[in-house]
Amino acid sequence: MSQIFDTIIIGGGPAGLSAGLYAARSRMKTLIIERAKYGGQATTTDELENYPGSIEDCTGTSLSQRMRKQAEEFGTEFLKDEVVDVQLDGDIKTIKCRKGEYQAKTIIIATGATPRLGGFKNEIELRGKGVSYCATCDADFFTDLDIAVIGGGDSAITEAIYLAKFGETVTVIHRRDSLRAAKSLQEKAFNNPKIKFIWDSIPLEAKGEEILESLLIKNVKTGEETELPVNGCFVFVGYLPISELFKGKINMTERGDIITDEEMRTNIPGVFAAGDVREKSLRQVITAAADGAIAATNAEHYIEGNLH
Ligand code: NAP
Repeated sequence: MSQIFDTIIIGGGPAGLSAGLYAARSRMKTLIIERAKYGGQATTTDELENYPGSIEDCTGTSLSQRMRKQAEEFGTEFLKDEVVDVQLDGDIKTIKCRKGEYQAKTIIIATGATPRLGGFKNEIELRGKGVSYCATCDADFFTDLDIAVIGGGDSAITEAIYLAKFGETVTVIHRRDSLRAAKSLQEKAFNNPKIKFIWDSIPLEAKGEEILESLLIKNVKTGEETELPVNGCFVFVGYLPISELFKGKINMTERGDIITDEEMRTNIPGVFAAGDVREKSLRQVITAAADGAIAATNAEHYIEGNLH
């Protein structure tokens, strides 16, 4: 791969795969670099009921596989490697990976986001021993057992509904007394006899020697502390952008969200960002895919001199 690509896309989630499809369809020489699993966070969800057309057995993984295949069929090249440094100034940009160096006229950053930690005692120590951040990965371990879910957003409620297919009980622990999740998800959760709620509460500590045995919970209104016996604790308290590589090189918010305009342009000419890594209000597979399409189209316009 010593030639110069028209575009290198960093990240193979829905934003990157969609960018790959659009770029390759425009006959751009396109490379997607992914360090882990194609599909990104979408692969950690079992149901994707709000992606248009994704009915009947459409999981995050199956949709991602189809997206990848489609991009490949149009000529996108794929590389499994981890980007360790980037040089983004000038007409030709250089992407340094663990195993090699690649050059391109444009870069599309689609590195996505990673789960935030719940911030309670022993969370890290009991990670993989009862504490988890991925229901599709770990739900099976908790068949007929008691599960807690931390958070009140779309992720927490989507995954609580999924986990209820496995666990004996699912207790959602939320720091307020109303959920942030979409109303349709709330209705499903409230109507599920296995799902219970503990409001106005946060976990203080995961307890257990070798494996999780209980959660110490504090009611933030009354200050009362109680212990909830659970075997599994799934934490869904939001996500943080994966943008460390670009710190000091690209404009971003304090949190690390890369700032773009609506054409997905960053402040560096020829460098675009798409999906959950950029500052935006609605982080969904559909908005990530849309971002990717816009970024790739504008990367082509940039190369042709029609976009600055
Ligand atoms: P989110 O919308 O930011 O919600 C995070 C939840 O965790 C909130 O309920 C928040 O409470 C709570 N929280 C935050 N910090 C906490 C802490 N330190 N301790 C306890 N609770 C804490 O995150 P998300 O649910 O992961 O969703 C991220 C994005 O992906 C959103 O844009 C969401 O719409 C999207 N998404 C969509 C779907 C879907 O459409 N099916 C599925 C998954 C994710 P407060 O409510 O009090 O702030």
